[in-house]
Amino acid sequence: MPEAPELLEQVIEQPITITGNKPQKVNLLGMDLPHLKAFFTEIGEKPFRAVQILKWIHQFGVDNFDDMSNVSQALRQRLSDIAEIRAPQVVLEQKASDGTTKWLMRLDGGNSIETVFIPEDNRGTLCVSSQVGCALDCSFCSTARQGFNRNLSSAEIIAQLWTANKMLNERIPKTEASPNKNSQNETRRAITNVVLMGMGEPLLNFDNVVQAVHLMVDDNAYGLSKRRVTISTVGVIPALKRLREECDVSLALSLHAPNDAIREKIVPLNKKYPIKELLDACRYYFSGDTKKKQFTIEYVMLAGINDSTRNAHELARLLRKLPCKINLIPFNPFPESDYVSSRMQVIKQFRDILQKAGYVTMIRKTRGEDIDAACGQLAGKVKDKSRRVNSDKS
Ligand code: SAH
Repeated sequence: MPEAPELLEQVIEQPITITGNKPQKVNLLGMDLPHLKAFFTEIGEKPFRAVQILKWIHQFGVDNFDDMSNVSQALRQRLSDIAEIRAPQVVLEQKASDGTTKWLMRLDGGNSIETVFIPEDNRGTLCVSSQVGCALDCSFCSTARQGFNRNLSSAEIIAQLWTANKMLNERIPKTEASPNKNSQNETRRAITNVVLMGMGEPLLNFDNVVQAVHLMVDDNAYGLSKRRVTISTVGVIPALKRLREECDVSLALSLHAPNDAIREKIVPLNKKYPIKELLDACRYYFSGDTKKKQFTIEYVMLAGINDSTRNAHELARLLRKLPCKINLIPFNPFPESDYVSSRMQVIKQFRDILQKAGYVTMIRKTRGEDIDAACGQLAGKVKDKSRRVNSDKS
């Protein structure tokens, strides 16, 4: 057995992107195909240029117009004058003993966000942030303690995938990677799945998240299937309805409780969107489609709060007839957190009840604990604008 790698913490001295620092330039990194076509039309160029540029940026990771060899010299020059491809700088990379890697990315304005890559035997999942901090104040989440600053732009969201792809592909041995194919001659990519489970509530940053997700599933960009892109949400009902029309990818609902009384205490948004209405919105989201996208219920296991056998039976009844699988998440502690995770024996008992009731139920393996990269531990650096005095739970 190879020894587990030592915890690696590496401060990146050099940003990996070329940062154009003329703010008036248009950043093309976050534009999906329709937006890029509109951009080219606006500057009097043929819209088909959008597909070319999209491929250069997202399939080849190019951030310099000069490298775009099938674009005329004149257009390359023009694009360099008015546009840029600009991602946040990676300022810290940490690698956990289980291979989980976390990057801290610095944004304009002094905030930073975190992005996590979780390698597994048959897939690699990138956990992407959607906001600087979070305004929802779920009582068991460390991002909530940071307060909220702002939404990420679509460029800042897709930049996490763009950057992680570049960093990870650099690590694939050249012999294997060249020319980015494996032995079956398939494109080899380290990242096979994306989950919007990092910092923030994706459905409260709707337009930018949707634009970034369009890029994730576009064959001219990352070409991920809808099953492999998951938006994790506390459940914002009007946004769920819009989402179905605009990009119906997989969904993870952070339910965490079998009834409103418990959920209200740990997820304040439940007062606005109670469970019954929320599950109805999810039913609508999945109506007419059970195959293309997946539905996961997330349930954080908090000792003495939501983890009794009674709670398990109640949850099984609540979810009846919903085509979902259930992920039980052991609570990940963070400094000053007031909760304790349920013991593994209790979690297994909870799982068994749900399985007997017919639900595919998994216990989420905690990854990247030694670098605080697990669910709910992402903190980044948030200049809190929400003016919370502190995050006392009342
Ligand atoms: N706002 C979105 C996405 C971010 S959180 C959402 O709530 O779904 C991603 C997942 O991690 C959510 O299910 C969240 O409830 C869970 N989580 C948050 N804090 C946690 C903690 N301390 N331990 C375990 N899971 C946590």
